[in-house]
Amino acid sequence: MPRSTPKTNDRTRGLDGLFRPRSVAVVGASRRPGSIGRQVVSNLIRGGFQGPVYPVNPKAEVVLSVPAFATVAAIPGPVDLAVLVVPPDAVLQVAEQCGRKRVKGLVVITAGFREIGGVGERREQQLQRIAARHRMRVIGPNCMGIVNTEAAFSLDASFASTLPRPGAVAMVSQSGALGEAILADAAQAGLGVAMFASVGNRVDVTAADLLAYWADDDAVRVVLLYLETVGEPHEFVAVARRVARKKPIIAVKSGRSDAGAAAASSHTGSVAGADVAVDTLLAQCGVLRVDNFRDMFALARALLDQPLPRGGRMAVVTNAGGPGILATDALAASGLQVEPLAAATVRALRRALPVEASTRNPVDLIASADAARYRAALRCVARDPTVDALVVLFVSPVMIDAAAVAQAIVDETAGCGRPVLACVMGRQRGDEAQRILAGGGIPVFRYPEDAATTLRSMLRRRHWLARREKRVPAFTVDRAAAARVFDRHRRGGWLLGADVEAVLTAYGIPFPASARVRTPGEAVAAAHELGWPVVLKAEAKDLVHKSEHRAVRTGLRDGEAVFAAATDLVARLRPVFGDLRLHVQRHAGGHREVLLGMTRDPRYGPLFAAGLGGVQVEVLRDVAVRIGPLDGDDPAEMFAALKGVRLLGAFRGAPAADVGAACRALLRLQRLAGDFPAIAEVEVNPFILDRAGGDSVAVDGRLRLEAR
Ligand code: ADP
Ligand code: MG
Repeated sequence: MPRSTPKTNDRTRGLDGLFRPRSVAVVGASRRPGSIGRQVVSNLIRGGFQGPVYPVNPKAEVVLSVPAFATVAAIPGPVDLAVLVVPPDAVLQVAEQCGRKRVKGLVVITAGFREIGGVGERREQQLQRIAARHRMRVIGPNCMGIVNTEAAFSLDASFASTLPRPGAVAMVSQSGALGEAILADAAQAGLGVAMFASVGNRVDVTAADLLAYWADDDAVRVVLLYLETVGEPHEFVAVARRVARKKPIIAVKSGRSDAGAAAASSHTGSVAGADVAVDTLLAQCGVLRVDNFRDMFALARALLDQPLPRGGRMAVVTNAGGPGILATDALAASGLQVEPLAAATVRALRRALPVEASTRNPVDLIASADAARYRAALRCVARDPTVDALVVLFVSPVMIDAAAVAQAIVDETAGCGRPVLACVMGRQRGDEAQRILAGGGIPVFRYPEDAATTLRSMLRRRHWLARREKRVPAFTVDRAAAARVFDRHRRGGWLLGADVEAVLTAYGIPFPASARVRTPGEAVAAAHELGWPVVLKAEAKDLVHKSEHRAVRTGLRDGEAVFAAATDLVARLRPVFGDLRLHVQRHAGGHREVLLGMTRDPRYGPLFAAGLGGVQVEVLRDVAVRIGPLDGDDPAEMFAALKGVRLLGAFRGAPAADVGAACRALLRLQRLAGDFPAIAEVEVNPFILDRAGGDSVAVDGRLRLEAR
């Protein structure tokens, strides 16, 4: 069960005691070179902590020239933060002593807790109780420590060897070991750090707490997360969604290849794998997920120094054809556009550039381009109103002054109001050019692909910020009718076709007229009553995927055809499935099939799916998944996100399909799932779409109930 969501002030309560302490005790401080207990004291001193540092060690009088105390209790002044580096079996006792000393926060570096199971798990629970009793906040256990570079504190309570320089990003790492590497790489990427926390086992302080804490901290302009798991998804979503409105959150979440074992027997289940769930969860709350730390740092730099693009129209300016094409390909692959520039821009470029240069997009200044030519070209392009962002490439040739070109790029794009990203390829004086560009706030990439990835994430943020939640329209539903059906299935399991149809119809999801009979003769009679053409299907308890058993016959136009088909179904399938029913259904008039579904994930709650449907769905796997609750705009966005979305538009003479009907049906499915928590999964496949205003109907559904 997810814990109830604490209010922001509960989450952030006491975190100042950790990150803004007046004094720090290091319990388990050590004289031994290479020990963590020594490294933490050393980092506090080397980092220039502004308050007193108290090493605690009963066997040493002095640690790193600082007088030590035998116990926390023996420290004369107040202690706000205690860093614990003692052996695991001493942690509880020390924590209790800290509580009595009125310590406000603990950073427990010691390992040997939940991660080792058994005794460690119990130890962790006890630590949690001690902390709660004394109202201490705890980071860890099993972590690398915390950092706050704010001048008034200059706190490095970690054992990382890199001392971060002050800056505007705040970082959380769920991995202690990687924390060290992240700090080092951030420094190398030129990113300064405001605060850092390695949260370890998260006995108390979670990534969500830190997000809430940093939301209101003006020194923090971008938040970076390294996540191994999303602890309490619902809490995380609630906090992240709010914080992402104020400042960008970028996450590397490991485990992408773990494509999810949730291979339930329904399609929704198998496509909504664990990673899909995390992906959509992060995207929905505005967290920018990236694949690796390189992309994370590049994106952080771009978001710190550059405005967001207003749209996806990119201008590429280059001095070499090949890289220009690479950039164009990479941008296009990221869903961005490289289209002809405005006519006025092209005319101006023609006047400014030699005839061999290309004034199309990419604008190719050719190899002889010097700073003056870059200036002239950028002056035109940076003013083009049809350009949402600029990618400037420079392959450094021997005869060109690279530094002057870099300066030209900085000068001519300054204040143009749209993002400018640069790619410097080739080593010839490239380093100096990179320095000048970076100094001018222009992110520099080695390869255009990386610039494209960054731009795509920037645009994604733009879109997320622009989105407003739209309310779900009110529906009338017959809840009692659905409840009556479910009452007959208290033991759970898959419902038969007729029952599924009854439930879905009660919730306003339309089905074609149909009849369920036993014999071929009855099937013919039913078909005559329903009207032609009809579809004949066999229904039986264990017959889940009917077409796999050739149990669906479509387009039957007369009694003879129905009789022959029914006779065949009965002869073939009754011996296999026993109790068999013949389902005679009006042939749906629509021309496009889509899938709608919901699976309840134990951690993420209801996941909704919308995709291209019909029997090809297993092969195409073109399905969009979102975590509930869906708002009024979500279904349409889900369909729009499909690779094959154009198949739903007007196509080869067929009119556009009524996607709106499918959207309404998905929202009704959400209502059904909300009204009956016992529904483990439900899927409509296919929902056959007619043209707008026509008869769009569901022709097949599955529903599985949890036992109650
Ligand atoms: P299953 O999914 O168990 O194989 P369906 O009932 O979904 O069986 O039928 C399989 C396919 O047959 C559908 O994807 C659709 O193309 C077609 N079909 C089924 N019922 C109808 C109908 N009433 N009208 C038109 N086509 C239908
Ligand atoms: Mg089906």
